[in-house]
Amino acid sequence: MYDVYAVREDFPVLKEVVYLDSTATTQTPIPAVEAMVEYFYKYAGNHGRGAHRLARETTNRYEDARETVASFLNTEPSKTIFMKNTTEGINLIANSYPWEAGDHIVTTLLEHHSNLLPWLRLQKKGVSVTIVNPDSRGRIDNSLIENAFTEKTKLIAITQVSNVFGSVQDVKSITKIAHRNGIKVLIDGAQSAGHMPVNLKDLGCDFFATAGHKGLLGPQGTGVLYIKEPETLESASLGGGTVSAVSGLTYVLEPSPACFEAGTPNIPGVIGLGKAVEYVEKIGVPEIEKHEMELSREAAKRLSELEHVEVYGPEERVGIVPFNVIGLHAHDVALILDQTRKICIRSGHHCAIPITRFLKVDSTVRASFALYNTREEVDILVNAVEGLKALVS
Ligand code: PLP
Repeated sequence: MYDVYAVREDFPVLKEVVYLDSTATTQTPIPAVEAMVEYFYKYAGNHGRGAHRLARETTNRYEDARETVASFLNTEPSKTIFMKNTTEGINLIANSYPWEAGDHIVTTLLEHHSNLLPWLRLQKKGVSVTIVNPDSRGRIDNSLIENAFTEKTKLIAITQVSNVFGSVQDVKSITKIAHRNGIKVLIDGAQSAGHMPVNLKDLGCDFFATAGHKGLLGPQGTGVLYIKEPETLESASLGGGTVSAVSGLTYVLEPSPACFEAGTPNIPGVIGLGKAVEYVEKIGVPEIEKHEMELSREAAKRLSELEHVEVYGPEERVGIVPFNVIGLHAHDVALILDQTRKICIRSGHHCAIPITRFLKVDSTVRASFALYNTREEVDILVNAVEGLKALVS
């Protein structure tokens, strides 16, 4: 097991606050920040567009990052496309897939708006959408998904880890069921990559979208989209960098990934992401998963022992503990914890209004743990929440 206190030295802000909002975005380790600074100071150029030394160095480093990320997810660089976040990756698929009126999509009530709204909008094109409900702890029964499939179903879009509950869906089995029915699978991996082993070859899904700025510890403005058969899709977004020839009224697209990365990408961000992924790999994803699960299990158990607190989600959760203090609004709880203990914790509907309403509340407080959090921080959280009892009794 790694030394969490040594790891914390790579995240200077953790000396200032108790950071429990890694589900929204994680902190970035010093080696990744230094890689970005090095880009600006030593070789900033554009990617894939020039013969001079800075352009060549930039292109090499950017493509090195792609190889690192592809190997981390166990796939090929040609199927690994850099995006600005998870949302952009999901929208790229929603906007590029050749939908026909009458097509059908299955998704779930658990989804973040980023994996819901792009599908709902397709209703304007005559595509219908079925939303499968989870149980009260945020787990989806695979048989409900299979029952929702029709002859017209083209896609199932599902999150691997719920950002509201921390519950994990068995996306490998869902992929098998979908493929048996000739249906493609898109996995929203925003909360899984970096927090648990993700092996794309083993999962077998058709599309996988994740963030660079969450479990992969990269900077904000980075994301990754995997497409199993990139040659079957033409991106809805074309421009500089995506074509090999243009003549008169016709054009020839570059092969993947270039044809999906129109315009100048977030070059420093991707280079930082590559370094951040190396950092995660060095620590080890199974160790990170174990650490985060232990912290969240402990926090959930101790918070649920408090009479004035309601905790949501399953027992086995990936680093996420949603709760409410009965009698206090979630935003008030978050503000008080910040003001009194410098605890940075998220409150609200977490960009997932349907599933928050399903819990019959309008918001929750969400503690989320990453590789750099400690048992002492769990103590600080639980003690602070315990102290709120005086305000509600
Ligand atoms: N999907 C899930 C499950 C998320 O938790 C989030 C963000 O928290 C997103 C999608 C959107 O991610 P991004 O901000 O990288 O677009």
